[in-house]
Amino acid sequence: MNMFDKPIYVTQPFLPPLEGLQEYLKDIWESKWLTNNGKYHQLLEKALCDYLGVKYISLFSNGTLALITALQALKISGEVITTPFSFVATTHSLWWNNIKPLFVDIDPETFTLDPGKIEAAITPKTTAILPVHVYGNPCKVEEIQNIANKYGLKVIYDAAHTFGVKVNGTPIANFGDLSVLSFHATKIFNTFEGGAIVCHDEKTKKHIDSLKNFGLVDEITVVEPGINAKMNEFQAALGLLQLKYIDNSIERNKQIVYVYRQGLRDVRGITVLEDIDKVQHNYSYFPVLIDKEKYGKSRDDVYEGLKKKNIFTRRYFYPLISQFPTYKELESAKPGLMPVAEKVAKDVLCLPIYPALDAEKVLFIIDSMKAV
Ligand SMILES: *Cc1c(COP(=O)(O)O)cnc(C)c1O
Repeated sequence: MNMFDKPIYVTQPFLPPLEGLQEYLKDIWESKWLTNNGKYHQLLEKALCDYLGVKYISLFSNGTLALITALQALKISGEVITTPFSFVATTHSLWWNNIKPLFVDIDPETFTLDPGKIEAAITPKTTAILPVHVYGNPCKVEEIQNIANKYGLKVIYDAAHTFGVKVNGTPIANFGDLSVLSFHATKIFNTFEGGAIVCHDEKTKKHIDSLKNFGLVDEITVVEPGINAKMNEFQAALGLLQLKYIDNSIERNKQIVYVYRQGLRDVRGITVLEDIDKVQHNYSYFPVLIDKEKYGKSRDDVYEGLKKKNIFTRRYFYPLISQFPTYKELESAKPGLMPVAEKVAKDVLCLPIYPALDAEKVLFIIDSMKAV
């Protein structure tokens, strides 16, 4: 029945060779400096600025605390325009800041916030836009910035999927007022858990660094109610090691994406996403859309069928965030208001992709899909 005994999951975290970690651990053990802006924390911030092509970065213990702190740093309040098509942490970061989300529909090509629908949603209470570069697809950054300028809104990008992505040669994390990254185990670059905020000036970086450390600015001075969201030395050292392998991981995933596209592009009822012109992708997700009318089977039929073959795909992002109990009573969450997001959430399926997934398994997944 099954050619592989072991289940194939949607992702498998990349881990560097364990030996590589020994010298870092030895050093940390000897220094007994475990957190609070230690040596490896500083080294990783420097290395990430170089790798990502950004000026200032503040490391965090995870991406969600980075999102929550980014909103604090810019003193965002009132209402914020955001997408329902994301991981739930995006909207939760607003809720934790007592901000009301205003959900706006997505673009049918990239599944990111549709700039054409933003202006109609702006109210006198709107203070910012929180878009997501979903699956690493860049948002329409120029159009979004133009709207933000016109209405005096801040822009904070949830860039959790976008490690290393460039648009027209510009690193994606340089757009907006702030960009937030995640280094969670499931992301293309991981420090087990981790995250970061990218900003444009030293003053903002210092403010963010204080906010993630209880609002302390020196031993005895607390200027505001900060939180504890610091990245520790173990995570930072692991990040330095991981960075040596990231280009390989992206290259490997790119090969897998090309095999998937080749095998699925011409199947009636299945839509694959192609490379976007002038974008350097990181190939960390492989979503397909399954049109039940044309394919004969629904997305959920395919999801269940693959499960029987020990292939565990994920329906990212279904349900829409706007359908969860916390948010579904909001005016902007009403069914029918976001037809594109509703359709994509119904049809999308993310297929397994990670550097260690070999070609044989990719072909098996393609064949299994066609056989459902
Ligand atoms: C992973 C993710 C986050 C949250 O990051 P954590 O590091 O897991 O807290 C936020 N937004 C999106 C879109 C994500 O995929």
